[in-house]
Amino acid sequence: MTTAPTKTLAVAAGWLAVVLGLAVLLPSSPAAAAPRLVAYASVAPVAFLVQRVGGDRVQARSLLRPGQEPHGFEPTPRQVARLGEARVYFSIGLPFEAAMLRRLQAANPGLRVVAADAGIHRRSADGHHPDPHIWLSPTLAARLAANIAAGLTAVDPAGRSAYQAGLAALTRELKQVRRDIARRLARFKGRSVLVYHPAFGYFLGEFGLKQIAVQNQGKGPGPRGLARLIDQARRQGIRVIFVQAQFPTATAHALARATGARVAALDPLAADYLANLKRMAEHIAAGLGRRSPAEGRP
Ligand SMILES: [Zn+2]
Repeated sequence: MTTAPTKTLAVAAGWLAVVLGLAVLLPSSPAAAAPRLVAYASVAPVAFLVQRVGGDRVQARSLLRPGQEPHGFEPTPRQVARLGEARVYFSIGLPFEAAMLRRLQAANPGLRVVAADAGIHRRSADGHHPDPHIWLSPTLAARLAANIAAGLTAVDPAGRSAYQAGLAALTRELKQVRRDIARRLARFKGRSVLVYHPAFGYFLGEFGLKQIAVQNQGKGPGPRGLARLIDQARRQGIRVIFVQAQFPTATAHALARATGARVAALDPLAADYLANLKRMAEHIAAGLGRRSPAEGRP
């Protein structure tokens, strides 16, 4: 207890001056790295592809939070304001993108918009509406990545070789993940997977599986639709109904009760894209490999 309060105060003031001095010096220090090119995609899985292709030169961001559904999405003023930092936006043909990007380019003529989905043919979700969930096919993801590499090179020609290297590494990884999943799901070829929201058509189609969706054109089924689904699920021996956190699960649980199936989750919008593809395959394999409740009884 030898330190007088005044001395303590003086020492504190001294430190404060040092800290403030450092704070003034820091911004001009040479340690600051070159600013990274800010690139946007709408959903987190596509931002993952942009980051892998772009590497150290790029900071990839997604407009929507991981897991946020792009259907009916409207960007908030704050999200639009953050887009002012973007040099390039990789669009994938989502309904909200066209109008938003037109407005954004008018306000920010320096922003380049690249159609990452160029050359990708859409499957039909319900006979007439194009299915937007293209990123869930590893093969189509490689096409997105190739368009992303071309777009980054157009904005930043000095990075060409880095982007080519990033693309090559990502393409190899996508092929490996596709092979692993194909092996995991091979014995289920031709089987149907029941999901609430029809987001998995490209993924399932790539591995020879079929999608049955509870939701049709963004709406849940009426009583007759539900009866038809119960019948279909029973006939096909469906044991799992896959739901997403973004959609209500009451209908899925009603369907599960009526058919003896259980409810499990799949996430089409996870930010750890490659790991998530493998997780999805595991959940689907576990669901399809499960014996039906009737078979399970002794
Ligand atoms: Zn969706």
